[in-house]
Amino acid sequence: MAVEPLIFELSKPGRRGVRFPASDVPETELPAELARETLDWPEVSEIDTIRHFTRLSQKNHAIDIDFYPLGSCTMKYNPKINEAVARYPGFARLHPFQPESTVQGALELMHDLQEMLAEISGFHAVTLQPAAGAHGELTGCLMIKAWHWRRGETRRTKMLIPDSAHGTNPATARMAGFDVVTVPSDSRGNTDFDKLREMVSPETAGLMITNPNTLGLWDEHIHEIVDVVHEAGGLVYNDGANFNAILGIARPGDLDIDIMHYNLHKTFSTPHGGGGPGSGPVGVTEELAEFLPGPRVRKVEGEDRFEWFQPSHSIGQLHSFHGNFGMHVRAYCYIRMHGAEGLRMISEDAVLAANYLRVKLQDRFELAYKRTCMHEFVLSGSRQKRNGVRTLDMAKRLLDFGVHPPTTYFPLVVSEAMMIEPTETESKETLDYFIDAMLQIADEAETDPAKVTGAPYNTEYKRLDEVGANRSLNIRWTPERKAELAAVAD
Ligand SMILES: *Cc1c(COP(=O)(O)O)cnc(C)c1O
Repeated sequence: MAVEPLIFELSKPGRRGVRFPASDVPETELPAELARETLDWPEVSEIDTIRHFTRLSQKNHAIDIDFYPLGSCTMKYNPKINEAVARYPGFARLHPFQPESTVQGALELMHDLQEMLAEISGFHAVTLQPAAGAHGELTGCLMIKAWHWRRGETRRTKMLIPDSAHGTNPATARMAGFDVVTVPSDSRGNTDFDKLREMVSPETAGLMITNPNTLGLWDEHIHEIVDVVHEAGGLVYNDGANFNAILGIARPGDLDIDIMHYNLHKTFSTPHGGGGPGSGPVGVTEELAEFLPGPRVRKVEGEDRFEWFQPSHSIGQLHSFHGNFGMHVRAYCYIRMHGAEGLRMISEDAVLAANYLRVKLQDRFELAYKRTCMHEFVLSGSRQKRNGVRTLDMAKRLLDFGVHPPTTYFPLVVSEAMMIEPTETESKETLDYFIDAMLQIADEAETDPAKVTGAPYNTEYKRLDEVGANRSLNIRWTPERKAELAAVAD
């Protein structure tokens, strides 16, 4: 007889996990609209509850478990001191409706974070409101539109976007009402500058460029690109999600970029993925500062006090209250902990780690662009595909080594792409372990392709219906779905 593991259905009538203290307020009748005959909650003890959730947490991959080289996502280790500080009651228990005078510490933190981000990137002013990178892009696009409209330039409806851009760029430009015009890449993985020069026009609203781009390459014509767009009357938006490559080395504001978003949950180590809400502040030049979302926080002239204010041509509010404040605390803590020298070292180590992996792997896999990379690089699985082993198969095989796969099939300009970003927080031993795993998979693809195409072997679930998961995501477990999920697991 098979022994059924104790996984779900742990509820037993009358079993309890908590004991409430005696009530110290008078009892009253529940409002009728809140009263229910039954409440179908599980009745479980504390130990069963703890085991249930701890067990669940171990079924998935996490940065706290093992290596996570998911290109473009900058899955660096999130220092636990950030968590401790974000939980200080003076931060965690604030209410956004509290009077300004009672939240001066929080305002000062937000003010100083705005200033630090502006300094690190060379911009004049920063908003902390947007909740993600894509949300920052939308903020930037709406500002570009407001800026042109205020000058009466309503015919500027076209947003130029290189084909190596992140997919969110065209999506947000479209949401903001622009027509997207795709700029091709050249043979070195840069934006094709000659093509760009032909494409700018009096209808150009701006250019959204990711630099370093999603191939992990610094655009070798960035100065000329910015100039050509400015000469045509457009603004330049830099997708700053890859800022981890250039901290303390280059400042986008110094490159005459007009707007940029920061992904605090990538560059500045606030948790992401399933780990927490994101934060995508936006920095701008002096000319654009009055268009920023409001309210913003500033120091009151000549006083030791901070206040909210509304920029004069503000595009409005992009998030309830002040953005994801807990993330501001974490990013502030991270920046203060590293200091200027430490920030530069982050980028130097991130670039070093990526180039180390690139050099060790480039003989066994096709390297999409044979150049020194920044913080990430893109391999192609085209050689392995000739043996019937796709990039998807190699990604699944990596799971057997306890490693999260790289980003696959992105960027679209590389066939069978594997986009690898190790970040600066991994030890050389971890990088070497990943190299050994990748080389073993390259061997298997030649000598035993079925081994790779049959992977993974060690994971709780095997190959999932990824399209279905995207189209009709349903993460609620019910007893009725148990059989359905078991079928997928096989
Ligand atoms: C992650 C990323 C984004 C989007 O950021 P989100 O916070 O996921 O919305 C945009 N561009 C690039 C290059 C990215 O890597």
